[in-house]
Amino acid sequence: MDQVPSQDVILPAPAGTPDDQGLTRRQALGLGIVGFAGAAALASACYRTLCAMRANKVAGGASSAAPGLPGAVPQPGGAAPAAAPAGKSASVFKQDAPTGELWELWQKRGWAREAKRYVTLGRNVQCQICPNRCLLEPGDRSHCRNRVNKGGKLYTLAYGNPCALHVDPIEKKPLFHFLPGSGAFSLATAGCVLRCLNCQNWDISQKKPEETKLATGEEIRPKPEGLVRLSDSGHARYSLFPEDVVAAAEYFQCASIAYTYSEPIAYYEYMYDTARLARARKIRNVWITCGFINEEALVDLCQYLDAANVNLKSFSDDIYRTLNEGALQPILDTLKTLKKNGVWFEVTNLVVPTYTDKPDMMRRMCDWLVKNIGPDYPLHFSRFHPMYKLTHLSPTPLDILLEARDIARNAGLRHVYIGNVRGVEGAEATFCPGCKKAVIERDVFSVTALRVKHGKCESCGKAIPGVWQDA
Ligand code: SF4
Repeated sequence: MDQVPSQDVILPAPAGTPDDQGLTRRQALGLGIVGFAGAAALASACYRTLCAMRANKVAGGASSAAPGLPGAVPQPGGAAPAAAPAGKSASVFKQDAPTGELWELWQKRGWAREAKRYVTLGRNVQCQICPNRCLLEPGDRSHCRNRVNKGGKLYTLAYGNPCALHVDPIEKKPLFHFLPGSGAFSLATAGCVLRCLNCQNWDISQKKPEETKLATGEEIRPKPEGLVRLSDSGHARYSLFPEDVVAAAEYFQCASIAYTYSEPIAYYEYMYDTARLARARKIRNVWITCGFINEEALVDLCQYLDAANVNLKSFSDDIYRTLNEGALQPILDTLKTLKKNGVWFEVTNLVVPTYTDKPDMMRRMCDWLVKNIGPDYPLHFSRFHPMYKLTHLSPTPLDILLEARDIARNAGLRHVYIGNVRGVEGAEATFCPGCKKAVIERDVFSVTALRVKHGKCESCGKAIPGVWQDA
């Protein structure tokens, strides 16, 4: 999961679009206009970018229900329901579906839609999208917080109501072998299928849609150019349906749409419909995910996916259960399914001190990747920073990350990166597996040198695995 951006850079608008160049930095931030330093290939075309629209902040704090929501459901205090053991359904939020005026408003906005992929069992329903397999009685809310049983039907509450939007460099996902230097129109709704103790976007992933959006007041469905001019309350109220997302990606000159920040599996229907439309408009789709999804749902989605970054959080089922309330095997299955279906992917492993920093486990993970996936799919080791429920831990020591890189290379992986660090030589460079020269150099999220032509090393002609603009 890449982090919802902080609002720290302002860039001028691209030529030919309405501009905000007259705004002060403070005014611009107030309107939610932020930017990033464009990558080399796009250095001449500055992006106008959108802020992370966290309505829960607008609405008065990360841990409270949004004021003004009729019938807003209080947070179920303390721990969330636990994930399902293999073959069972996860615990869910009992009798927590929106009711009354709130439910009516959600439907009127178009934010509640009948879900895909569920079975009915009398008046009960069971979602088939992820291994949690939530079994819901009428009035219940799912483990991911985004689906509810209303009258014997399963509905998603996370359709057309993103709570975070941003134009990111594709390198931030991270995707290093996919259209380098391009922009990704990035979005998220509330909700997640896991419960990671170290979640960096917990203030949207561990929320219900009703805690991040407001269905009251006038309906706001902005045109792309209007997105950057929304007021804070507008951010909480606007809708962005699949056709709007695709139009916005085109307007902001993005090569791809990234489903990211929280967990897109939790907003599967919205992602699926958007991806299908984007494919028809020749915009690529990238999925930044924990990979905790059932095979049938993934195979169906794969027909519209162009790339993915899968967060392989550890190589231990026990640690998956304690750190993430997940399980290891479904993630390994996801990697195999992506490969089988021809979707380019890269793997991220966050090295969390005391949880996922054991050399032996790293070795087993890398051996499995080489044997089952092959040596060409990139692996990104990412540095942990104290976050959410693990603020008592220290950042990952650099020597552990360097050791992890050595382990991966020795196992045979050809493209190994270290992320979230500065000043480490070659940490984010791509080296040709033939002549060993650096073919892509990066500085944070910018591409500073690109020596891949038609998918091959410019020096020796060796093919570099990935998806390239000119290949
Ligand atoms: S996607 Fe959500 S509702 Fe469906 S099984 Fe997973 S956690 Fe439950």
